[in-house]
Amino acid sequence: MRGDTPSSAHREVHRGAVAEIDLEAVARNFRAVKRLADRPVIAVVKADAYGHGAAEVSRRLSAAGAEYLAVAFTSEAIKLREAGIQTPILVLFDKNDPVDFFEYDLIPVIHDLGTARRMSREAGKRNLTLDVHVKIDTGMGRLGFNSRNILKEIVAVAGMDHLRVAGLMSHFSDSDIADTSYAERQLKSFHAVRDTLRKKTKVPFLCHMANSAATLSLKSAHLDAVRPGLILYGHSPFQQSAVGRSAVPRTPNVKLIPAMKVRTEILSLRKLRTGTPVSYGRTFITRRNSVIGVVPVGYGDGYSRALTNAMDVLVRGKRAPVVGRVCMDLVMVDVTEIGEVKEKDEVVLIGKQGNEEITAAEMAAKSGTISYETLISLGSRARRIYV
Ligand SMILES: *Cc1c(COP(=O)(O)O)cnc(C)c1O
Repeated sequence: MRGDTPSSAHREVHRGAVAEIDLEAVARNFRAVKRLADRPVIAVVKADAYGHGAAEVSRRLSAAGAEYLAVAFTSEAIKLREAGIQTPILVLFDKNDPVDFFEYDLIPVIHDLGTARRMSREAGKRNLTLDVHVKIDTGMGRLGFNSRNILKEIVAVAGMDHLRVAGLMSHFSDSDIADTSYAERQLKSFHAVRDTLRKKTKVPFLCHMANSAATLSLKSAHLDAVRPGLILYGHSPFQQSAVGRSAVPRTPNVKLIPAMKVRTEILSLRKLRTGTPVSYGRTFITRRNSVIGVVPVGYGDGYSRALTNAMDVLVRGKRAPVVGRVCMDLVMVDVTEIGEVKEKDEVVLIGKQGNEEITAAEMAAKSGTISYETLISLGSRARRIYV
């Protein structure tokens, strides 16, 4: 929205940022993934759907045909159930309170024998068989069965009276997979466990391993289902940790549409003479008579302090540099060259305005992080609206 839009739209914003979430973009990204992988999709909606709002995103993804959702913790899954979402939900990391899995019809990811026994006992008490997915550590060094007895342990889980191993999964240690050799080794370890389990059980189980990067660039990792997060929100997993690594892998032509735009508006416009310091520590001093816009967003809104003197925002379809330190609630931008700027003009932090765009990847690179963190930082603190 530009400065000439109706004032009602503006009155909403007193301070801070608004995150506009385009659910149609999420659905289109999902369909692009579906076309590419052509198998079930486990849509990862942890961390409040990467800052996009888990309930709204999950509802849209379910309507678009997502076969499963995945969250980190049971509390996140319960929120989705309470929002009326009925899609099967995998809980990736939580092993607390087994009761919740029955009460809310959730699928636990099991990464150790103790948890498997506990779950089986709970299921037994209810005279039920609980579907679980078993996670193995093939080289991430985080969670999952990894002992020398891994094959024995997995077979033991599969043999438990009240559990049904409905899935076998692992996780790649690269979120970008710039070089596929390590990923391929992980995949090979996965195959070994899968083949053993197949011999020991008659029950079919869903094998899944592909994060966004593998969904895009490693077809051999698609297995029975893919498990992407980031690309559903319209961002490429490549180019972010590509520094010092081999080039971005060649990927199929998948058009990703960023689903989040974060905007606010100019709170105050100030004319400052040459030689005037701006913000804490006087790290920026005007070198000409300048027009400086004060923008009501700061590190309290997830706008990283690392962006001090290092980032642009969009005003009237043009780039305006951030000048001086990013404060807790405010940031200053130099709009001297933009001309015709008024208070309440829209300021875009990430997203498009006119022909210009600031991507999450650009902001992430300039604040020393990855798009994942940038999206979550801004998206979870902004007031979200759905378009
Ligand atoms: C976060 C996560 C994913 C999704 O990763 P992306 O890089 O966002 O696609 C998949 N699987 C597990 C276990 C995860 O923790």
